[in-house]
Amino acid sequence: MKLGVDIGGTTVKGALLEGLNFIREREVPTRGREGREAIFTSLFSVIDALLEEGNEVELLGVSSAGNIDPYRGVCVYATENLMGWTGVDLKGTLEARYHLPVQVDNDAICALKGELLFYPHAKDVTMLTFGTGVGGASLRGGEIVRGKLFDGARWGHVTLAEGGRRCSCGRLGCAESYLSATALLSRGREKLPALKSAKELFELYVAGEPAAKEALLEFGGYLNSLLELIRAEMRPEYILLGGGMAQSEEIFLSLIQNKSDVAFARLKNRAGIVGACL
Ligand SMILES: [Zn+2]
Repeated sequence: MKLGVDIGGTTVKGALLEGLNFIREREVPTRGREGREAIFTSLFSVIDALLEEGNEVELLGVSSAGNIDPYRGVCVYATENLMGWTGVDLKGTLEARYHLPVQVDNDAICALKGELLFYPHAKDVTMLTFGTGVGGASLRGGEIVRGKLFDGARWGHVTLAEGGRRCSCGRLGCAESYLSATALLSRGREKLPALKSAKELFELYVAGEPAAKEALLEFGGYLNSLLELIRAEMRPEYILLGGGMAQSEEIFLSLIQNKSDVAFARLKNRAGIVGACL
């Protein structure tokens, strides 16, 4: 069997997989803003707990937020959502600790690979993940698009508003600075200071609360801009929406103008784990 872990800005999730069956799962907070040591502590605790069961594991697949070099298994760049993660040698560290073959890739690319199981004949698919940050990956002509300017972080950091809000990457007006859970929560708090989470904002929106509606209509405007930009650039057959926030499918659908090519991640927030094991 295989052990897959998914390192996101909020949680580290892991599972033992027999084929595509989830045998056992584990989830802990990432503590991503506390720095490299804290993130490794979270990661090790998930892997240790899953290995403890004494199962035969043949591969450790790792999905991580940030710009990942999958050949060296190194995180080349991560935003402050994973503080100190830039330059981390994930493959080297995990192989030395667990004596298992380790494969590492970006979390959006892993999620895309997982979801492509349901689209075996598709050649052009873009996956977007909406969580603490915004990730994205594309399949073009049947190949995962990679490269300096195009990796799993690319769609989160395309400019949606010139001179707009400051992003976690330091630039202004990126998609992530409008479409992440973090961004939505801080926008919601401008009108609703007691707001605890993006999820609570969704609930208030469903209940018809005017300030929540205003915040989500603005979110929807930027979401539609991002979808249009992807259509113009990639001409995808499908745009798949995943990540924790996109599990509120009805809310997303109520905000999206052109739904013709939009679908939701079928593996939900397990897509990254499955992709990491593939
Ligand atoms: Zn950015």
